[in-house]
Amino acid sequence: MNDCKMTAKEQIIKISEKKSKSFRGQMLAWYDKHRRTIPWRAPEGELSDPYHVWLSEIMCQQTTVPAVIPYFLKFIQTWPTITDLANADRDDVMKAWAGLGYYARARNLHKCAKLIADDMSGSFPQSKAELQSLPGIGDYTSAAIAAIAFNKAETVVDGNIERVMARQFNIQTPMPKAKKEIKQVAAQFFEREKARPGDFAQSLMDLGSAICTPKNPKCSLCPVVKTCAAHKHGNAEMLPIKAPKKTKPQKRGYIYWIENSDNQVLLHTRDDNQMLGGMLALPCSDWIEEAGTSAKGKGATKPAHVSFIDQSAVINTQQHIRHSFTHFDLRLDIFRYNAPLCGTANDGYHWVERGDIRAENFPTVFKKAVALCH
Ligand code: SF4
Repeated sequence: MNDCKMTAKEQIIKISEKKSKSFRGQMLAWYDKHRRTIPWRAPEGELSDPYHVWLSEIMCQQTTVPAVIPYFLKFIQTWPTITDLANADRDDVMKAWAGLGYYARARNLHKCAKLIADDMSGSFPQSKAELQSLPGIGDYTSAAIAAIAFNKAETVVDGNIERVMARQFNIQTPMPKAKKEIKQVAAQFFEREKARPGDFAQSLMDLGSAICTPKNPKCSLCPVVKTCAAHKHGNAEMLPIKAPKKTKPQKRGYIYWIENSDNQVLLHTRDDNQMLGGMLALPCSDWIEEAGTSAKGKGATKPAHVSFIDQSAVINTQQHIRHSFTHFDLRLDIFRYNAPLCGTANDGYHWVERGDIRAENFPTVFKKAVALCH
């Protein structure tokens, strides 16, 4: 932008009132013509339902909009209001979430719904500070709900907005250090946008999604190409500069298909303090980091089998599944075990008729094992 100044002392990009207004005006005019139709968006000129904004924003963390849409529709069909969601059985909520990943989000979602239904008469608070005090709602989500559902001039910076800002101002600081700088820049637009802060946020999200894409940005279609420093310098695709990739530790474990003589299979609802806590699973050993796959991991030669099976009768199927989590890669070797009795299961374990097992109720890692064993 032509009259933006970087002060040497503060290292903050300053944007004049005039430039801020012109940029916002161009973005909003573009949005009025090109806004995406997404199930949680209100019709033009209306504010979105805070329940829909909250649900979609939680689902969209680490997940793409196309992947979220069927989950969002299933949730609002099953639980049309936040009070319905609060009254739902948590296991049903976890099953409906299965496959979306990052399962702490689903546990917090249910906790948050209960709190709003029980303590706030089913109405979301409107200020960013109050929203942020709720389970699972952080800095970004509180700003997005306040801006989009309640028209508050809060600074909303998701991955799309980060990219647009980094390119407009040719911000060369690598991520994640650049986040602070980008937010300071973005605030100079958002804090001044009193009339349509939610639409302004969504205009930038849509620009990042459709035009200012990570690869091959379509700058010729961009409403703010004239002010874009990266376009001018020809380095848009490089920005924002990514943090160097870390090597992922490799973990290993055992997973069991345990069947009894009544044609039932043993399932486990994982403990809240475990990874994938609260989700339906096949029984597993601990997941052990393999030696030498990370700087700090000590590693171990082999995982130990779970204690409640007869280790002399367990059958190694010679099959395994692999799954990649954000912080590590996992290999699970699959074992079969014919349980001698249909006895009572340990805490968190339960027998299910083989024919009633539905792969879609499991998180992806277990879905892969169920598909191989069922
Ligand atoms: S001109 Fe290109 S790089 Fe710059 S904001 Fe628009 S689409 Fe992104």
